[in-house]
Order: sequence, then structure tokens, then C-alpha cells
Amino acid sequence: MAYKNREESSELKILHILNARMDLTQTEKQHYLNLKKGFQGEVQFDQLVEGAGLHHKFYILNDLLLKCDNTTFQIDSTIITQNSIIPNEIKNFEGNLIYKNKNFYNCTTDGIYQNPLEQLNRIKILLTKLLQKNGFNIPIEGNVIFINPECFLYQAPVDEPIVYYTQLNRFLRSLNAKPSFLDNTHTELANFLLNAHITEPESMHLPAYQFGSVRKGLNCGKCNSFFLEIHGRKLVCYDCGYQEKIEAAVVRGVEEVRLLFPELKLTPNIVFDWCRLSISSKWLRRILKDNYEQFGYGKWTYYG
Ligand SMILES: [Zn+2]
Repeated sequence: MAYKNREESSELKILHILNARMDLTQTEKQHYLNLKKGFQGEVQFDQLVEGAGLHHKFYILNDLLLKCDNTTFQIDSTIITQNSIIPNEIKNFEGNLIYKNKNFYNCTTDGIYQNPLEQLNRIKILLTKLLQKNGFNIPIEGNVIFINPECFLYQAPVDEPIVYYTQLNRFLRSLNAKPSFLDNTHTELANFLLNAHITEPESMHLPAYQFGSVRKGLNCGKCNSFFLEIHGRKLVCYDCGYQEKIEAAVVRGVEEVRLLFPELKLTPNIVFDWCRLSISSKWLRRILKDNYEQFGYGKWTYYG
């Protein structure tokens, strides 16, 4: 297992729920899909790193948000080996790209991408500063990883630290061959980064929404379909066949409400309205009682 795991951002989680429950504008939808795609690419890289067994040899810290001199910077995947620290910037670009004038363009739209090599350089500069300030002296390498098999870069530069999809296995083998005698200083470094990771609220780009305006009802935990039916103690999806225990589905629904409406008091009525399940209110209250702390009494009961 990685020393620090990756989690979906709240922004992505919220957009995922909203996408199923309201009409996003084209721009909002594109923003959601970009975040989703980026996250999927990162998870894919984590799986490759884990599959290669690198987490047994090195410290792997996924998704670090750090601050140096009031400037924040984010590292998709950081690998601490015996002789170096390796930040990786992961890109899930798709389709045909062209590299010209030190920039990356989409061949079809001619749109320019945020330059991942510049992003990597910025990371390396800020990370060097942060580590030096805190007494760590370890060489910094760093790569840009093009994780998508359906991405092709024309006029690809040969002298830049880019790893293309077709080079990933070789790249992982070369990492695996690196010396991996990690001592206390490496552990200190890993813990330092873990503690320096910022968990302050993210700045989120979200559409305006209210409890009254979004679609209600539980949807499938797998395919988002609202076409569900209760079979005994399970909720079954007509579209993909996914089965989920009613209790788990209700808890999932409650978590959606908490994420979307953190200021809302979780009363049984709110949960009932959100889930819109044809189950007895007694059963629903039981589920809430078993999974959450209960506050207040009678009709003022709410859960936290
Ligand atoms: Zn489904």
C-alpha cells in the first residue's frame, strides 16, 4: 500500500452526484469530465506502480498538496527512493497532440494545453526550496507521465523527462532497479511530506444548486441509473444488475446529502426525501440510528 493514498477531491465527488441529478451546462460538464479523467489517469498510474511492487521498496505518496513561501503546489505521485525523490506529473491527454514552440497543442482543435513540463519544473523548484528549508538534502528527479494509450505526440521532444504510455513498463522496471535501502532519514522525509500536506478546504468550481432543485431518489452506486427496485433487503439496478444492501444504499444517500449540503440538519424527513425508497420509516430510522449519532428527540431528531 502507498504511504499516502489518493482520494477523489470533494469537488469531483460533488460534481459526480450533481451530474446525475441536474442539467450541467456544457462548460460545467466539461470541467467535471476533465477532473474525472485526470483522476482516472492518476489511479491508473497508482495501480501500475503498485502492480510493479514499488510500494514494497520505496515510499509512495499520492496526491500531495504542499506550500512553500505562500505558494501552493500539487504533486500527483511522489516516489522516495534511496538516492532521490521523484515527483511525477500525470497527464491523461487523449488523441493527437503536437509539440511546437515548447508547447503542447491539440491537433484537432489547435487548443493549447497547460504545459506539463512547466508544471513539473515549477514543482521541482518549489519542492527543492521546501526540502532545503527543512534540512532535507536529496536530489530531485521528476517525470511527466502520459498515461493514456490513445495519446500520440507529434514532434515529441527527446530531451525532456516525459514517459509515454508505451514506455511505462520499461520505466517501472528502471525504477524497480533503483537502490532501495531506506533508513530513518527517508522515513523522516516521508513523514515530513505527509505532515506538510495541506488539507484546507479546496477551492471548488461548482454550479449553483439547492436541496429543492436537484433530482431526488437513490440511484445505482455503480452506473448512476435511477431505475432501481427493492428485492427483500437489497436494492437492484435494472440497468446494470448491481445489487446493494438497502442499508448501505441509504448510508450512501446520507453521505451524498452531507457532501452536497453540509449546513443541512440530517433529519429523517430529509433522508426520506433524498432516498425516496418505499421502505417503512421505522426501518429508515433504524438504519440512521445504527450508523449515525442521534441528537435531539421526537420530531426534532437529527443525525450527525
Ligand atoms: Zn446500475
